[in-house]
Amino acid sequence: RFITLEGVDGAGKSTHLSFIRDTLAQLGVDALFTREPGGTALGERLRELLLAVDTRVSLEAETLLMFAAREEHLAEVIRPALEAGRWVVSDRFTDATFAYQGGGRGLAAGRIEVLEEWVQRGLQPDLTLLFDVPTEVAAARMAASRSLDRFEREAADFHRRVRDAYLARAKADPRFVVIDSTQPIDAIQRELAVLLARCVEQ
Ligand code: C5P
Repeated sequence: RFITLEGVDGAGKSTHLSFIRDTLAQLGVDALFTREPGGTALGERLRELLLAVDTRVSLEAETLLMFAAREEHLAEVIRPALEAGRWVVSDRFTDATFAYQGGGRGLAAGRIEVLEEWVQRGLQPDLTLLFDVPTEVAAARMAASRSLDRFEREAADFHRRVRDAYLARAKADPRFVVIDSTQPIDAIQRELAVLLARCVEQ
């Protein structure tokens, strides 16, 4: 199984990732955890470059770099693990490109779809957990925490467009489960435990 985690910055994705890791281990699932941008040596270097606040890059180049990293990630990490019968849990995948470079920065979805088809050749996640919070809540959480990267420093409008793009995709595709991340952490954990147990049974 291929599971991806998505959401706006500040939606609490990282907090829930460790719970998902523990829960799958308890369920006896052999899962590989990875992330985008990242997941390979090249991917991690591109991540550093793409997130650096002083990086100047065009929208087209940014998108192509995301997909260059994704091509390697699929070839070296994701496909081999899936073929070996392991589960793969990726912290972000192509939906993030549709949300950030598409919704956030305004790149036409059709341009992203061409790259998606080229690189994924029909491979899609089986399940995508979308951690959703209103932009104001996400902004407040981010302000209270770590130093912000190039994307996190964008204006509220940008984050609103990213969220809207995620929600529109979730509405159009049944592989998404939207998790209301304004709920208390233990409520979200109960929801995740049920979802993952169901996934194992299928
Ligand atoms: O998941 P995480 O917050 O670590 O992601 C790193 C950053 O990369 C995020 O701030 C996100 O905005 C950005 N990103 C992006 N386009 C993607 C994937 C991630 O802008 N396709």
